[in-house]
Amino acid sequence: TTWHVLGAGSLGSLWATRLARAGLPVTLILRDPERLAAYTASGGLTLVEQGREHRLAIPAQTFDTAEPISRLLVACKAYDAEAAVARLAPRLVENAELVLLQNGLGSQDAVAALAPKARCIFASSTEGAFRDGDWRVVFAGHGFTWLGDIAHPQPPYWLDDLTLAGIPHEWNTQILTRLWRKLALNCAINPLTVLHGCRNGGLQDHHCEVATLCGELTELLECCGQPAAAHDLHSEVERVIQATAANYSSMYQDVAQGRRTEISYLLGYACAAAARHHLNLPHLNQLRDRLVAHLAARGLPTT
Ligand code: NAP
Repeated sequence: TTWHVLGAGSLGSLWATRLARAGLPVTLILRDPERLAAYTASGGLTLVEQGREHRLAIPAQTFDTAEPISRLLVACKAYDAEAAVARLAPRLVENAELVLLQNGLGSQDAVAALAPKARCIFASSTEGAFRDGDWRVVFAGHGFTWLGDIAHPQPPYWLDDLTLAGIPHEWNTQILTRLWRKLALNCAINPLTVLHGCRNGGLQDHHCEVATLCGELTELLECCGQPAAAHDLHSEVERVIQATAANYSSMYQDVAQGRRTEISYLLGYACAAAARHHLNLPHLNQLRDRLVAHLAARGLPTT
């Protein structure tokens, strides 16, 4: 079965190049004929790993191709996923499988609703990649990817493809817990790094603020039926701040580079979930309001 990869950005390219390098069939789905022409002219996707470059001439197509899709890796940003999958829905075969790489929560349910007959597999990844040019991806940080399906606990047979491609992964029957935990860590760290204009380690000067947020996030997770994701949240947040002290958070980097953030699928999702449960979390709401104002002042989208 061909891996159709939607979005040849950082993570999409990182998956596509490793799958193709292992000899597995991969096809990229690009935005429009202009992007397709630019890609074709470039001769393929280049993976930069430990200073070595590997160019792979992976076939590509646009949305308008008629070819049916059995397995789709959705590798665009959370805010693009729903619209992009909607355009592909007519091409999905009856039992298609969708692998959703989006960070945060909210986009997965929106995509699943568009393709009710498809199997949706949620993923959470700690791998790091960035583009240092068009059609080039730098494998910046080794990590791990957890995959799971909230409707069916049995793993898909194609996890073997990932092993073959050298993509470290594990099937996880509690994928929602993992996604919630990651969302909570993100809410406790990333917005504050944007507002204080600091690296993750800079939050060591804002212990009280971090602790208060962790308290509210713990309440939220428990209220949303995710007590396991709430367990020892504050100590893990402190550990992550220390261990990644020299790093700039992904949201910090998005804002610094004038890129749209995934706020609606992270802090925005958390605040909406609290409101749904009639839970009053004043500091979390205030954090969102401050972040929205900060983005607006820089002319960036606030959703
Ligand atoms: P990215 O580099 O911005 O890549 C997104 C890609 O999607 C872009 O190439 C974009 O195309 C493409 N795209 C958007 N809409 C499209 C459409 N309608 N049709 C075709 N292509 C479309 O983003 P990313 O960093 O890979 O992030 C993807 C997701 O993974 C995010 O949710 C992110 O939070 C998560 N994640 C990323 C990393 C990482 O290290 N990068 C790590 C963990 C999780 P153009 O090139 O034409 O703009």
